[in-house]
Amino acid sequence: MAQAFVDLHTHSTASDGTLPPRELIRAAKDAGLSALALTDHDTVGGIAEAADEAKKLGIDFLPGIEISAEFPHPGTLHLLGYGIDPANPSLQNLTSLLIEGRNNRNPQIVEKLNELNVKVTMDEWQAKAQGGVLGRPQLAALLVEKGYASSVKDAFNRFLGQGAPAYFDKERLQPRAAIERIHQAGGLAVIAHATQLRRSSIRETATVIKNLADQGLDGIEVIHSDFNDLEIDFLTRTADDFDLLKTGGSDFHGGTKPKISLGSVNGRRVPREFYDELTAELKRMSSW
Ligand code: AMP
Ligand code: ZN
Ligand code: FE
Ligand code: FE
Repeated sequence: MAQAFVDLHTHSTASDGTLPPRELIRAAKDAGLSALALTDHDTVGGIAEAADEAKKLGIDFLPGIEISAEFPHPGTLHLLGYGIDPANPSLQNLTSLLIEGRNNRNPQIVEKLNELNVKVTMDEWQAKAQGGVLGRPQLAALLVEKGYASSVKDAFNRFLGQGAPAYFDKERLQPRAAIERIHQAGGLAVIAHATQLRRSSIRETATVIKNLADQGLDGIEVIHSDFNDLEIDFLTRTADDFDLLKTGGSDFHGGTKPKISLGSVNGRRVPREFYDELTAELKRMSSW
């Protein structure tokens, strides 16, 4: 059999991606992928639709989620939860908590933008979100449409990103609690795009990951659109040294991050064995 490839980090309109879950699965089929994980921010709202389409098209589907945890600025710590059960009450409880954090933050952003004479409303952001979780990339796209920024990146640099005037933090769980919640929901916890921890050296990044492993972390995303070859090699070695699972994905968002394509990560592809090892571990935990 020809070598098979997967994408284990993707977003749909259920959060801040631009493809509805069903279309995301079709795109995965078109890209020749044999498996896909949907990892929307703070929601499992897209999973039923994606799973249904995956079944129809004969693609293996892994339900997931991406949540952010407390971490010192300017770093960010995102955790992927794989194999979570969308119906699990503790997961429902977690997503409600995370959405509440957004609902507290988002109006502050809009209010500040208005103070800066950037005319945008919560209703417009809501409309842009197409029924999904309201994330900053949709707001950034709105600012581009309205002529306040030249690109999504520019909107983050000038208004929405860390250090910019309309940046507001949202409440997050401590990493240990976030990992525990993922486990309670029957999932495995994997650190996403570890370069965004923004540690000053590779050694420091490894130390953070080691501490997370001591708190129950199950795996490391070793292939991601942000990584160069050296980072991929280093994270792969770190995963092997600490006996952690390896995952990989594009972090596909569709139109708001047009440089990122599904299933292809800077010319690399994510091997099927990452999916097989994740699901084997889920089976061992007997939650799958
Ligand atoms: P939110 O979940 O609403 O806080 O928004 C987080 C999303 O914004 C993630 O998908 C990030 O990739 C994206 N994001 C955060 N900072 C930037 C930035 N400086 N440039 C582009 N995208 C960003
Ligand atoms: Zn996103
Ligand atoms: Fe992320
Ligand atoms: Fe992501």
